[in-house]
Amino acid sequence: MKTFLFSLFGLFSLTLAAQEIDPEINAAAEKIEAQVISWRRDFHQHPELSNRETQTAQKIAAHLKSLGIETTTGVAKTGVVGILKGDSEGKTVALRADIDALPVTERNNLPFKSEVRTAFLGSETGVMHACGHDTHIAIMMGVAEILSKNKDKIKGTVKFLFQPAEEGAPPGEEGGASLMIKEGVLKNPDVDAIFGLHINSETPVGTIKYKPEGTMAAVERFVIKVKGEQTHGSAPWSGTDPILISAKIIDGLQTIISREAKLVDGAAVITVGKITSGVRFNIIPETAEMVGTIRTLDPEMKTLILKRMNEMVPAIAKAYKGEATIEIQNKTAITYNDPQLTAKMLPTLQKVAGKQNVILAKATTGGEDFSFFQEEVPGFYYFLGGKPLDSKKPAPHHTPDFFIDESGMLLGVKTMAQLAIDYLNQ
Ligand SMILES: [Zn+2]
Ligand SMILES: [Zn+2]
Repeated sequence: MKTFLFSLFGLFSLTLAAQEIDPEINAAAEKIEAQVISWRRDFHQHPELSNRETQTAQKIAAHLKSLGIETTTGVAKTGVVGILKGDSEGKTVALRADIDALPVTERNNLPFKSEVRTAFLGSETGVMHACGHDTHIAIMMGVAEILSKNKDKIKGTVKFLFQPAEEGAPPGEEGGASLMIKEGVLKNPDVDAIFGLHINSETPVGTIKYKPEGTMAAVERFVIKVKGEQTHGSAPWSGTDPILISAKIIDGLQTIISREAKLVDGAAVITVGKITSGVRFNIIPETAEMVGTIRTLDPEMKTLILKRMNEMVPAIAKAYKGEATIEIQNKTAITYNDPQLTAKMLPTLQKVAGKQNVILAKATTGGEDFSFFQEEVPGFYYFLGGKPLDSKKPAPHHTPDFFIDESGMLLGVKTMAQLAIDYLNQ
């Protein structure tokens, strides 16, 4: 009976201990917050486009080296990888932060506003951290510092992946998560699980949003080329109209979504974003071209939609005496949160943020290249509140007025550090 009571007490105290953030990690995070904010302001003021993050990478590498973390630079062009071994042996967890900015001209009036301008695809543009990746870098540098000073709490290895080109490499270049994987960042030591976060301008500071399974969409880009037969605009019977065929194709594609996709399993989108054809009012042109995107959240639905598009496009063109081809290019996979891993890590988020501040969210049809890591190893990706406390209608990501409340970063530091420790100790 005594043993039973004792073990019951042991269990009770264990549960209690697991119900709150490690006090030392908590204190270390609060202590480093001002530094994290100042790093973020520096990155915000000096943004660099995808695959051009050279100064950014230098600053990250210098910091990791100063902490005694084994550091590799030039990974996937401008990426930085840090390896931190804990005091005891165990599994390996990867923590990922994306580091690139966007060709957006900042309109915020901040002391650390970006004034950077550069050439992008032949025209001059401002450069801005308009997706919040500046906060991701700063958060992860803070996490690296905290964990490097608490190696006794780390049972295994933490790999820091500072990833370039999340927004997409410039045309003709490789980059981003897929190139990092190709260059072997998930090997040696082999990564058992990976965590990532995205700050969000529309989620209140202090809260976290997450969703098991498909949380962000697979993104494909497609190009459809339609061939008809050119003729006088007054005599359509003497040719084949590629513009009419394009209209029929667009209509057909939308029926895949409305009549064939099992939408109860998740959202799906086909958008034709661009049509090019013709030169003047009285000519039926020879060709038309359409460019668009497909978004899916469910792997089976994705397979179905791609298959049906490939079947339907040439068939519709043929029915109207023309020809059409479709090319589909994959941009990101489904950001798929491994259900077991998500369930296992949820208590960590809840004890750090407070249960009421961890919100089960709906999926979004945006894409994220973190998904490629999740195709290789179980991963968990969540959203961190960065909505200014006084702002009713925050500016969306990728816009000139995009703004993040820097007080939101502290919870990012705490959750990432504690996720790494808890994962390795389970
Ligand atoms: Zn973005
Ligand atoms: Zn982003």
